[in-house]
Amino acid sequence: MANKDYYAVLGVEKTADDKELKKAYRKLAMKYHPDKNPDNKEAEEKFKEVNEAYEVLSDPQKRQIYDQYGADAVNGQGGFGGAGGFNGAGDFGDIFGDIFGDFFGGGSRGFGGFGGAQKRGPRKGADIRQHIGITFEEAVFGKKVNIKVNRSEECEECHGTGCKTGTSKTTCKTCGGRGVISEVRQTMFGSMASQRECPDCHGTGEKIESPCSKCGGSGSVRKTKTIEVNIPAGIDDGQMIKLAGQGEFGDPGAPRGDLYLWIDVKPHKTFKRDGFDIYMDMPISFVQATLGDELEVPTIDGSVKYSMPAGTQTGTVFRLKGKGIQRINSSSRGDQYVKVNVQIPKKVSDKQADLLKKFAEENGETVNASKKKLGQKIEDFFTK
Ligand SMILES: [Zn+2]
Ligand SMILES: [Zn+2]
Repeated sequence: MANKDYYAVLGVEKTADDKELKKAYRKLAMKYHPDKNPDNKEAEEKFKEVNEAYEVLSDPQKRQIYDQYGADAVNGQGGFGGAGGFNGAGDFGDIFGDIFGDFFGGGSRGFGGFGGAQKRGPRKGADIRQHIGITFEEAVFGKKVNIKVNRSEECEECHGTGCKTGTSKTTCKTCGGRGVISEVRQTMFGSMASQRECPDCHGTGEKIESPCSKCGGSGSVRKTKTIEVNIPAGIDDGQMIKLAGQGEFGDPGAPRGDLYLWIDVKPHKTFKRDGFDIYMDMPISFVQATLGDELEVPTIDGSVKYSMPAGTQTGTVFRLKGKGIQRINSSSRGDQYVKVNVQIPKKVSDKQADLLKKFAEENGETVNASKKKLGQKIEDFFTK
């Protein structure tokens, strides 16, 4: 299922704007909605696919990553929850509420509900956002790294129930287990009945009489976990990796949150990067520039030879085709651009000074500098 074409899934152009995306999504989601296609596995799959595509393309950050690196980069990596991005009732409810709120006013069963207050189900764990620093080479070639994440884990003592061993939750007396309480208020339009979340059980309908001594009734404890992360080759500074289901522990029965890793790439001492191209400055002597030379140019694959022609001017940029960074989902690579900077010697020996004077004479120039001032004169000559 790797490298899905989300644009094809929604049947839109790559240039589609928010409005077009929303329109296409709405049409397809209506068509494949489970309520309209009961017990239709194919429609269910389509529905998931359409939702996944829209979830990514409607988010500018995710869309940019997807355009550049494909579905795998946005959805986290194999083994971390398959059709990533779409595993939480939370995400689902958000998009759905946003787009279909006006359609299914009363709340489409199973999708979170957007009507009045109602008993809430187990809550998905919170997402974690964390920065991860990697080297230039790790970003270019990809790497498996171990990171430490401080997150909540299921309490082993009570297995997430929050209750002391041998006890269990009881029905909330305040709301009678409904999770909501009804209120009648007097307003200028007459008396209005409304429902709100039960303040005693926070909408769960249940109470813990004897809390677990280890977690104090929360059902979870904080731990530092080491997680192996597969940094995809070609990732760039400021981009994000999503590890679905690696976030905070949720209520028992609900999925974990997700883990978002923001990539900070440490600057390289020689190479600079723009997209998949690499830029570097290369110092050369004015003799090399004048006579030409075979240069040893460093690249990310090791050094390569480049025959620089005689008479190369300072600031000249040459291109090493295909020596840049591997593009994701493509067999091609970017290029490397090398800018040569001619170095003017700051000091010369007496012999070199004599040779340079002869060089100038040969050029028909008269150089009246004493040796001390020569450096300055030559600099002027070569930089003009
Ligand atoms: Zn209650
Ligand atoms: Zn516990």
